[in-house]
Amino acid sequence: MSYRRITLVTNPDSCNLKCPLCFLNQRQKPLGLGTMDFSLVEKTIRSFYSKDLKEIIPSTMGEPLLYPYFKNLLNLCSQLSIKINLTTNGTFPLGGVSCWAEPLLTHCSDIKISMMGLSASVNEYLMCGINQKEYLENIKLLVEEKKKLQKQKIGVSTVSLQVTVCKKNWRELPDILEFAEKIGIDRIKWNKAVFLSGTKDSFKNEYQLDEEGSVFEEWKQMARFIQREAKIRVEGPFLDLEKREPSKELKCPFLDEIWVFPDGSYEYCPSPERRFGDKKSAAASCECCEMKRILNKT
Ligand code: SF4
Ligand code: SF4
Repeated sequence: MSYRRITLVTNPDSCNLKCPLCFLNQRQKPLGLGTMDFSLVEKTIRSFYSKDLKEIIPSTMGEPLLYPYFKNLLNLCSQLSIKINLTTNGTFPLGGVSCWAEPLLTHCSDIKISMMGLSASVNEYLMCGINQKEYLENIKLLVEEKKKLQKQKIGVSTVSLQVTVCKKNWRELPDILEFAEKIGIDRIKWNKAVFLSGTKDSFKNEYQLDEEGSVFEEWKQMARFIQREAKIRVEGPFLDLEKREPSKELKCPFLDEIWVFPDGSYEYCPSPERRFGDKKSAAASCECCEMKRILNKT
């Protein structure tokens, strides 16, 4: 089996922020698998290496730039001509943005920076521990460095924002779009907040987008506004709020991807429920997977 993308869950429990919506906060305990040895990173990438392997995703849980062997990972991927697809919280720890910008821009296919709000009050609440002024400066400096490298005809990654939309930040979406367009962000991915099956209802009520009623109508209008007004690429589940029907698609969209954990175990499904919640819960299986299971039985 050859894979197009491998996610290495390198350091799931190490992060310099404490976001309320983080799955580790929702489950109220760390994953407990430690940090991935670089020997496992190397073994995994080399054993799955093929012409189809296009991208490595370093830890989507935990801050990947805190992985002690991150620079070794960049070097290995560079040797094998594989791009890194990075999602980072925008704090650029262990050196700051001036130290990270050039190596990241030249080794990544995309650098996605998580953003939960443009105002300090919202972003510092939803990305607890962040300093909004420094964080916005980091993003601007990264984009400026990208433009400088482009002027020298050096190939660089795209720079995206990833916004997780919830009850606390949806009013800031036009401001985020305006900021992104003004400084030269390439794309914004608008996700919806996701909750584990074991997360308390009171917590969900505080953050979760409604699925009906007048407020839901306002959210749909917001999604339409973003799609209509955006001058840059915008995509993601929040923009599909109106698609209420479950997908009848039978083919899993992640068949050519694999997730590898620090203990060497694998997961073939990206569902957060399978990784951080209850693998046996209904939420751990999407519609098409369930349909496949039923079809296999008949
Ligand atoms: S930045 Fe990511 S890993 Fe860190 S606390 Fe926030 S959601 Fe969790
Ligand atoms: S639940 Fe099944 S079909 Fe859905 S993403 Fe996971 S593996 Fe794919």
